[in-house]
Amino acid sequence: MSSDFRQARYSEPLLIEKGKPGRVGTSLPPWDEIRDITELLPDDMIRDPVNLPEISEPELVRHYVKLSQMNYGTDSGIYPLGSCTMKYNPKINDKIASHPTLQRMHPLQPEDTVQGVLRMMYELQESLAEIGGMDACTLQPAAGAAGEFTGLLIARKYHELRGDMTRDEVIVPDSAHGTNPASSVMAGFKVVEIRSAPDGTVDLEALGEALSERTAVFMITNPSTLGIFEKNIRGIQKACHEAGALLYYDGANLNALMGKARPGDMGFDIMHFNLHKTFSTPHGGGGPGAGPVAVTEKLAGLLPVPVVVKDGNLFRLDYDRPDSIGKVKGFFGNTGVLIRAWAFIRMMGGTGLTRVSELAVLNASYIRKRIEDVYPVPFRTRDELTKHEFVASASFLKENGGSAKDVSKMLVDRGLHPPTNYFPLIVDEALMIEPTESETMEELDRFSDALLDIATATAEQFSSAPRNSSVARVDEVLAAKKLILNWNQLKEE
Ligand SMILES: *Cc1c(COP(=O)(O)O)cnc(C)c1O
Repeated sequence: MSSDFRQARYSEPLLIEKGKPGRVGTSLPPWDEIRDITELLPDDMIRDPVNLPEISEPELVRHYVKLSQMNYGTDSGIYPLGSCTMKYNPKINDKIASHPTLQRMHPLQPEDTVQGVLRMMYELQESLAEIGGMDACTLQPAAGAAGEFTGLLIARKYHELRGDMTRDEVIVPDSAHGTNPASSVMAGFKVVEIRSAPDGTVDLEALGEALSERTAVFMITNPSTLGIFEKNIRGIQKACHEAGALLYYDGANLNALMGKARPGDMGFDIMHFNLHKTFSTPHGGGGPGAGPVAVTEKLAGLLPVPVVVKDGNLFRLDYDRPDSIGKVKGFFGNTGVLIRAWAFIRMMGGTGLTRVSELAVLNASYIRKRIEDVYPVPFRTRDELTKHEFVASASFLKENGGSAKDVSKMLVDRGLHPPTNYFPLIVDEALMIEPTESETMEELDRFSDALLDIATATAEQFSSAPRNSSVARVDEVLAAKKLILNWNQLKEE
């Protein structure tokens, strides 16, 4: 592994690099009659030998334990990655999702044999619609971005069904999550970006100028990615609806809102939820997620098929929806994730979810208060709490040779997960901090103390971090320009 941009200090070899020919991790009893499995198979079904790792059980166990020890997750400590809502995932969720009866189910089983899981899905649809103040819900989309895409297809079809064919634009504020413009383009729209007002809210004048008979949707995150609640949401809603546009609520982070305010009551037509954020199902590392979409009554018929419905005492999958946009995901969505979110909502109840919002806001506001005299928070009103997150700036560190990125690398050295860096784009050297409700006051202090300590570092300390991680500072330019995506490529280096 020469010229490796990862600059590994300690690198666990791949399984294929470990072991020796002939080592095995299983001990099956010998089967006398047949020595060679190929005797059982037709010739044309026999594959050429594949180069699989040959490794013993302890080597295998140690490999994965080492990898897990090199990792950092919500089970390790605070994970204040803004906009990602990395909260603790209660183990009861996993326990329920891995119950043998749920594990052994097959998506093609007849409906009357899977009433229990259909009921869970029905209840989850209902709970989410209730939390969002909406009328109907689909659980199918596999992620937040997939939910946005689904919601925008619904909006497109809505305008088409009304014969309103000129609407091809989606308006998004400049503080929007990157997936908003991306999903809009994927759904066939043009994106019109509008600037934020100096206080971080939507600039109503800019919105007024952007709205026209070409506007299909106005898409907004509220509270915004700056953690600021849009007080004038009713005015925004009126302006958009008067212009004939639909209102889309990016509900990836409902962590400040649950039990406090509902997008439906604010006049939104479509929203999505990220079950893998607000509703505590695990995420990170590209695992499965779920981005259910909820809509108001007038859009209910357009939801993807199937929707879980209740028919007397029975639950069934309804495919008979002529205006539906079709299917957006195989079968019914990521069922394991849906079950975990169902468990979380049932466990918390309305009171518990309201408490989540309160603690998420309190925790974010506490860290802001602790650090804001050192790390300026550009978009804020001094006397107000932030919502679930806030964005501080590390630009003052430039004169000491530091940056937001350096702060994050130094946090890694202190055994803390960094905040989101360089997003949203409207804050210079952005540190976007979202502690979630999971953290104790001691953990919030540990993180705040570390940030304050790092602010006094020297240029040399900044540029040499991280010092304690298994991988040293990576060469980001090289890593981006010279993609090494598999082991064979690395071997050739
Ligand atoms: C995370 C997030 C998304 C996208 O969700 P994915 O599941 O990552 O696709 C969209 N909007 C906001 C505000 C988010 O924080």
